This record gives sequence, structure tokens and C-alpha cells, in this order.
Amino acid sequence: MNPVSLKNISEKDKKFVWHPLTQHKRNPEMLPIARAEGCLLYDMQGRSYIDGISSWYTCMYGHCNPRITSRVASQMSTLDQVVFSGFTHAPAVQLAEELLQVLPENQAKVFYSDNGSTAVEIGIKMALQYHFNRGEKRPVLLAFEDGFHGDTFGAMSVSGLSVYNGPFEDFFLKVERLPVPTEDNLKQVLARLEERLEKQDIAGFVYEPLVQGAAAMKMNKAECLEPVLALLKKKGVVTIADEVMTGFGKTGKHFASLYMDTQPDIICLSKALTAGLLPMAATTCSQEIYDAFYSDELGKGFFHGHTYTANPLACSAALAALELLRSEQIQQNIQRVIDSHRGFARELQSHPRVADVRQCGVILALDLDASMERYGDLRDRLYRHFMEQGVFLRPLGNTIYILAPYVITEEQLMTVYDSIRTALDLF
Ligand SMILES: *Cc1c(COP(=O)(O)O)cnc(C)c1O
Repeated sequence: MNPVSLKNISEKDKKFVWHPLTQHKRNPEMLPIARAEGCLLYDMQGRSYIDGISSWYTCMYGHCNPRITSRVASQMSTLDQVVFSGFTHAPAVQLAEELLQVLPENQAKVFYSDNGSTAVEIGIKMALQYHFNRGEKRPVLLAFEDGFHGDTFGAMSVSGLSVYNGPFEDFFLKVERLPVPTEDNLKQVLARLEERLEKQDIAGFVYEPLVQGAAAMKMNKAECLEPVLALLKKKGVVTIADEVMTGFGKTGKHFASLYMDTQPDIICLSKALTAGLLPMAATTCSQEIYDAFYSDELGKGFFHGHTYTANPLACSAALAALELLRSEQIQQNIQRVIDSHRGFARELQSHPRVADVRQCGVILALDLDASMERYGDLRDRLYRHFMEQGVFLRPLGNTIYILAPYVITEEQLMTVYDSIRTALDLF
């Protein structure tokens, strides 16, 4: 497109469109993106940006990957969409079977929906109804402090308290919060939890295993999470692992839950599920959860559904993505990125402007030694600096993190590292 139509897009965007997570008075300008390929985003003037956060952790095998687009194109001319209540189709069945092959062993059923928030919403409803169907009164949910689980009401309720949720807090579900267990507080957390569980009123526990993404890539240890999960399980609390961000290889294993011995009752998946091609989510559960709904009584069924549940195109994208994830090539790429990050992390550790460096799989995060408002001025200056370097990174407060596609080249990775090195010198 020529610069005239570029101006048109920007003007019409301001005129007609309301963007997510945006205060339009403070941030009126949206950068029009024309196309994407591999790890690169191209704006309408032909400038390219390395997608250092995989467009919110989705396109892990690169943008417009022909292995995925060709599969979806062929599905498109075969079966586009059909009601998933009363009907079924091969892509949905095959995807469920293949997902269960890579998920923790206890997972037995796959329930489809269309985004991360609904995946969590469904997990919460399954946990609540599981106890209801068994005649138990358990009206309270438990979640970690500082978690993020989405923007619908249930998902917001179990997320950490945030200024953005202020107008809605009066309408939240009943949720109590647990500090993330660390080596230092583990004993106290377990003791407090054990005491709290005596009332037997907690239905489910929602948590992001190993990495809390929106909380600026805070990381927790499998050894600390394991005893918490084991205790909850022993007390009949349904454990709901929100792997919307951590799923599909980002932690080094296919799923973060595979680092713990205690397997979650329910797992929420989305984001990288379809490799960024189409919106889709899945909430999977153990046989025990499913069995509590299986009954001669109609009302014990799970009466939840979305129009686009198990959309065949999304299923076919997910099947292609899963095939890539399990390929030797991608597994080698994941190892290569992990090793590169390890080297860069070592370098950053001794930098005077860096307060903390942490890594989990292909996720690398560093905290700048500066305090500031989360979306304050420094954050915006950092963002602009990266974009000027041709790198799309989205700092969270004073945290800079990389979560690039697995297919990023060494050279692109070096460009990303360099943009961080110069950022550290600038600020
Ligand atoms: C992004 C995210 C969600 C919400 O997913 P949406 O598709 O944006 O609704 C939920 N949980 C986690 C851990 C996420 O990272």
C-alpha cells in the first residue's frame, strides 16, 4: 500500500476502532502492520520487526508457516464450521486424541472453546459443578497472588488484584489468595493452607505453573509448587493448571505441569494451541472429573458451549502445530534457544543496571534496577527504543522479557540481545 492509504488506515482506525487494553486519550497511535512471515512483522512502510514475544506467545513456529497454512487451506474447502453439539468431525477427534498423548497422563477428556479466558472460565465451572454434582458445598476458589487468568468474570476473579479490575471487584466470585510458594516461605504457606482447608469449602485452585506471565514473568519452582498441589489434592480441591501461556514447549517440556509429580485435575490451553493462526482453546480434565458429570440426570451434564466450539479450521491448525511441536527440528530449536538464553543470562547477571535475571525454558526475563509505574514513561521509552532497533518487545513495568518463536535464527536472536544491551546503556 502507498503512504496515502497508510494515513487512511491510521485515521480510520482512530475514527472507528476501540483497541484492547488501551487508554485511547494517552495512546492514540496504533502501528498498522501489513504482513508477517517467520519471526518478522512488517509495517506498511516495509520496515520489519523481530517478533520477540511471538505476538503474545502464539506463533511459536513462525508467522504464516506454510506447514500450517496449507493444512488449514485444505480443511477450508472440506468442512468450514459445524455445530459441535450432536455432530462431531475428524479434526476435533484427532486433535483430542493427539493432545492427550502429550498432556500429563491423567488427562482423559478435551473440552473445546475459543480463547484463554473461556478455557479458564470452563475450568472454574467444571470444578464448581464437580462438587455440586457430588452434593458437596464448596463455594470458594483459591488462586495465587499476582496471577493472570483472563478478562471474563470468572477469570478476572481468580486473577491477582489489579487497578484495571477496580470497577468489577464487587461482582467477583469468592476467591482467596495464596502467596506463591518459595524456598523461604514454603513451610508457612503449607501450614496456613492446611489449616484453611479444614473447613472443606474450597472447590478449586487456579494457578499458572512455573511462570506467571502477566505478573512480569515471575517464576516459581517445581519443588515448591509440588507439595502445595499434593496437599490440595489430598483435601479434595480440584487443581486447575492455567497453561494458556506456558503450554506447548515454552518451559522446555511440552507442558509446565510435566515438571511436577502431582498432575492437575484440569488444564487450560490456548495461545500457542493453533500456532497463532486461529482463536481456539481447550480445557482438559481427568476421568474422575468427567465421571462426576456422567449421569442419567440431565442436569448433571455440563451445559456450557460456544458457537465456534471445535471449529474444524482451528482444529486443523492445532493438529499441524502439534505435529511441529513434536518434530525433532522444533525440539532442537527449543534447545538451541534455551542454550543461547543461558549464555545471555550469564552476561546480564553482572550488569549494574540489572536487578534480576530469570529463565524458564525459552522464556528469559530481566528486571531493570529502576522503579516506575507499570505503564509509565520509562516503559514507553524502552518500547520505542526496541522498535527503533527493529525488535518488538513489550516490557512489563521494569521487566524486559523475550519469548520469541522457536524458529528464530541465531542472527535474529543476536539482534534482540543487542537491542537489550543498548537499552541497558541508554536508561
Ligand atoms: C493470555 C492468558 C489468558 C487469557 O487468554 P485470552 O485468550 O487472552 O483470553 C489466560 N491465562 C493466561 C496464563 C494467559 O497468559
